[in-house]
Amino acid sequence: MNTKQVKAYGAETKESDLKPMHIPRRDPQAHDVELQILFCGVCHSDLHTAKNDWGMTQYPVVPGHEIVGKVTRIGSATTKHAVGDTVAVGCLVDSCRTCGSCKNDLEQYCPARVGTYGGHDTYLNTPTHGGYSNRIVVHEDFVLRVPNNLDLAGLAPVLCAGITSWSPLRHWKVGKGSHVAVVGLGGLGHMALKLAHALGARVTLFSRSAHKMADAKALGADEVIISTDDAQMKKAANQFDLIIDTVPYAHDLNPYVGTLAINGTLVIVGYLGPLDPMLATVPMITGRRSVAGSLIGGIAETQELLDFCGEHNITSDIEVIPMQEINTAYERMLKSDVKYRFVIDMESL
Ligand SMILES: [Zn+2]
Ligand SMILES: [Zn+2]
Repeated sequence: MNTKQVKAYGAETKESDLKPMHIPRRDPQAHDVELQILFCGVCHSDLHTAKNDWGMTQYPVVPGHEIVGKVTRIGSATTKHAVGDTVAVGCLVDSCRTCGSCKNDLEQYCPARVGTYGGHDTYLNTPTHGGYSNRIVVHEDFVLRVPNNLDLAGLAPVLCAGITSWSPLRHWKVGKGSHVAVVGLGGLGHMALKLAHALGARVTLFSRSAHKMADAKALGADEVIISTDDAQMKKAANQFDLIIDTVPYAHDLNPYVGTLAINGTLVIVGYLGPLDPMLATVPMITGRRSVAGSLIGGIAETQELLDFCGEHNITSDIEVIPMQEINTAYERMLKSDVKYRFVIDMESL
């Protein structure tokens, strides 16, 4: 298959900083879309993958799965997108198309899903490479339409941080009258506040410190509960229909489970790993409360979210950086020193 070398930024080992490199991209096949990447958001998964925190990284790795770009070439049979369109690519670039998950618009749960980076590129028989690059080629079915009224840099994080919050809000049917709480105010958490608020829910942020109060309210929270304050936590018992827990490390879920209403669900979206401490089952059994997990969203659901963001004028709060500042951005992310997402301006590459 013919390929073209394109500019990218990636890591060669888990110890190395990200640096400039060249990677091959296939020439557009019949159903492909080639994008010039304009912006790419910086997700915590990018950092975990570059540093091999999950032990699965194949090097060299080019991260990035919050991609907004312009169509530069299309394949001969491509009908969904045209040259010049502004489009987006999220965390998935392919799936098997035939399993139960794929048939039900749940490509994120397909056992053969192909991640935008670190997946298996069936065309080139190499790992897939992500959006820290000036071009990418993706099957048209995995390329999304972008509303024309939104800031394109601010839109990029919708493709991962946004959909990761949106999918549980939709699955658990959040709307007017729902009580939703969010744990953690980072890239995911700030999108969860905005989206739950826009769906008409009453929204609460659990925070360990009071200094996030004003920011949380500006993002759509009706209330902030200080999770280290036992009196406030006690008062919050039996309230929430859905809690979206975005915290990216092991932490005690039990105080939050106690604030769920009967039949309520706490859904983990930010942490992969064993729980510590363990879950106490009494609050679950005595209130039919659930603890669940959720992974990004399917393609149709991601398109639904992009359209919703267009209608409600929602984008992410971001700090735009040039590609060359990515290593500093990673250091700052580790200290939670970003409101609330870095987005790379790919013109800098
Ligand atoms: Zn991500
Ligand atoms: Zn499938």
